[in-house]
Amino acid sequence: MSTGTSDDPSIAAELEFFRDLGFREIFVSAPALPQLLPGSMADLAAVARSIDGCTRCKLSASRTRIVLGHGNPAADLMFVGEAPGREEDEQGLPFVGPAGQLLTKIIEAMGMTREEVYIVNTVGCRPLENRNPEPDEVAACRPFLQEQIRLVAPRVIVSLGTFATHAILQTDEPISRLRGRWQVAHGARVMPTFHPAYLLRSPKGKKEVWTDMQLVRDYLAGKPGAAE
Ligand code: URA
Repeated sequence: MSTGTSDDPSIAAELEFFRDLGFREIFVSAPALPQLLPGSMADLAAVARSIDGCTRCKLSASRTRIVLGHGNPAADLMFVGEAPGREEDEQGLPFVGPAGQLLTKIIEAMGMTREEVYIVNTVGCRPLENRNPEPDEVAACRPFLQEQIRLVAPRVIVSLGTFATHAILQTDEPISRLRGRWQVAHGARVMPTFHPAYLLRSPKGKKEVWTDMQLVRDYLAGKPGAAE
């Protein structure tokens, strides 16, 4: 048994004690990560601190960086995506790859900028091969998503695609049925719409997304009728 990696003399002495008793291997479990209580984080910096080094799910094994939400901490409008892709994993920022470039165009077409809104994903780490996030991964990241929503307190959440919509609304209704219909969750209006990555594969969906985004823009501007 090697005790050479510990700088702590009391740990080294304890390991020597076990060695003298004849033990050759000792398995030590990692300290339990603190439980995340809803409403416990004071600000977005506290969310970032509490997710730092996270190993709550298996995505942690293959990620380069954790991708937290980014943008205006007091945004009226929040976009929730699915999961970081390769570029996001490399840069540590959400929606910076091809789907992100399309999202930026959508935001600008609404008359806004990326800096005005808040953009976050359902899970903070990249699933390899861009596979879908699994239920335990979504569940492990949910407290961080919820805290970001609570702290930013947007008036409108646009949920992009199936995974974000299911995570935000706690439903498994298909996105094709929910899209374009206002919902209420997390103290905000929620507008489910198609994911920009889907639009890159199926550009015909852009017309429907634009219809949804016009409703969001008009609701935020207080136009009568946009909330129905
Ligand atoms: N990039 C992200 O950050 N999220 C997605 O859902 C897709 C691409």
